[in-house]
Amino acid sequence: MLLQDLASGARSIEAAQAAFAAMEVMYPICRSITGDGVRRTLDIIGETLPLQRLEVPSGTPVFDWEVPREWNIRDAYIAGPDGARVVDFKAHNLHVVNYSVPVRARMSRDELEPHLHSLPDRPDSIPYRTTYWREQWGFCLRHSDRVNLGPGPYDVVIDSSLAPGSLSYAECVVPGSDAGEALVYTHTCHPSLANDNLTGIVVAAQLARLLREERPRLTWRFIFGPGTIGSLTWLARNEHRLAGVRGGLTLGLLGDTSPLTYKCSRLGQTVTDRVATFVLERSGRPHRVVDFEPYGYDERQFCSPGFDLPVGRLSRAQHGDYPQYHTSDDDLSIVSADRLGESMSIAAAWIATFDANRSLVNLCAKGEPRLGKRGLYGAVGGQAPGDSERAMLWVLSYSDGDHDLVDIAQRSNLPFASIVAAAQALEQAGLVRDAGASLIHQGDMP
Ligand code: ZN
Repeated sequence: MLLQDLASGARSIEAAQAAFAAMEVMYPICRSITGDGVRRTLDIIGETLPLQRLEVPSGTPVFDWEVPREWNIRDAYIAGPDGARVVDFKAHNLHVVNYSVPVRARMSRDELEPHLHSLPDRPDSIPYRTTYWREQWGFCLRHSDRVNLGPGPYDVVIDSSLAPGSLSYAECVVPGSDAGEALVYTHTCHPSLANDNLTGIVVAAQLARLLREERPRLTWRFIFGPGTIGSLTWLARNEHRLAGVRGGLTLGLLGDTSPLTYKCSRLGQTVTDRVATFVLERSGRPHRVVDFEPYGYDERQFCSPGFDLPVGRLSRAQHGDYPQYHTSDDDLSIVSADRLGESMSIAAAWIATFDANRSLVNLCAKGEPRLGKRGLYGAVGGQAPGDSERAMLWVLSYSDGDHDLVDIAQRSNLPFASIVAAAQALEQAGLVRDAGASLIHQGDMP
């Protein structure tokens, strides 16, 4: 199992290095919630992963929102009286407020001032600002440069377009052997920022690439789309599919120095949450499990009460709690391949565990069945049962439809792989059967 290799670290160095190399390629691209930067990013992901690309026209209603007009930008600058560019989009794409309407004007420093954004407490960083839903324009610059601006006049140019077009997103679907689906969503809308969220994009892409080499039980749908409007658009187009969704994760912020952090789904105690807590505890790595709050990334759309999907979030930092967040300092230097690899291992372990987890029903529940006469008991009578026999007894004991294999691994303190192997052996011997998806869902209710 490639994912289990990844989860155990055997392949994680190679996968993490490939992920980091992909970040280097995609970092310079000016992405947004729509436009050619996102398409170029999806082109690059598509070089190593078969993607289904989707374009949803501007104006398409999605619940209380609609797909906006498409934004593209070619150039932008502020030039001083001598013609030299004092702020230049071509030097860093964070210099333009993302989604700025086009501008071509000459203005004084005072007229320009309301359109400038800087961070007095981080004077050498360019802030990241957006104006998706309000037609305005602006520039972001280092505060240390802003304080040196003279009275002008300045030539101000934003060569952008905001026009009917489409929102671009992509899916990679890895088909499963059983009914039931799981989701992985990552946001693709941030321009030259590394941790938020090229890390989520490259980790999701590596996981999808490796999972494609396996035969999972569930169908896994990896979605690469813009934040908020992308997950809303996906949900609006896939409502018919949601009854089959057993759970999922949003991925982001996976390369910084914070401990691994899992944010629970809205209800908490769902199978997604239990598997994540179990995987993190068993990993022995420093981690945090935090409660749901209706703020953050796309988990808040999947968890909105009208859908209430068991979708949690795996990250390291949480949005806003690292000093480089949403500034030009969120660059490749704050992300390491090692930490990407660690995050990828945990995400891989979550996927492998979630995929193998299920509830069973004991078909021979009155007393213990005789394992020996079915060839299931390896040990000589009288000896203490070994791990595999012990795992079978645990599975038989808790296969009541209300407990799943993760519950049983937790209670027994046995490796999850032993519990899965025991369940398979018992199923083949006709001693247990799958409880079915509906029972798994009932088991999720708090
Ligand atoms: Zn962000």
